[in-house]
Amino acid sequence: MELLYLNTSADAAYELPVERKFVVEERELNKGKAVYTLYGHARGDLITNFTGTVLSYRTQHTLQINPTIHLLDLDFVGYLAHSCSPNVFVDMQSLEVWALQDIAPGASLTMDYAATEDILFKQFPCLCGSPSCRHWITGRKEQISEEGRRFLQGFTRC
Ligand SMILES: [Zn+2]
Repeated sequence: MELLYLNTSADAAYELPVERKFVVEERELNKGKAVYTLYGHARGDLITNFTGTVLSYRTQHTLQINPTIHLLDLDFVGYLAHSCSPNVFVDMQSLEVWALQDIAPGASLTMDYAATEDILFKQFPCLCGSPSCRHWITGRKEQISEEGRRFLQGFTRC
């Protein structure tokens, strides 16, 4: 099933039809859903605003507004994939997404989960391919788990 993100704030002034700007879908088997932009963006551009449901706890798809408030948006930012060299920055105060690099139409939008999360719902291995890949992703305020330490030991031996 394809979920579409509708930028209602920008399009409301022009009334319908609402422009499709993103597609959220699973394109790579077992990798989960990701967000693909239908338009190109230049580095430094404001890509979009977003909104969601405020929760007092984190889930796999929430983003942190502050340590006790988390935002759930299953139409857009909740499915942004992680990269250690992300192409977008998600501002959780202004609820805006900014382009960190030039982004081609059709590209997957990626963020660094440690940029918004103190603690991740679940730490995980990363093979994003970036020269600066950390290989094991945690929140910005948590230690690498025992599982992560074992994973990284195996990684450096390869
Ligand atoms: Zn990585």
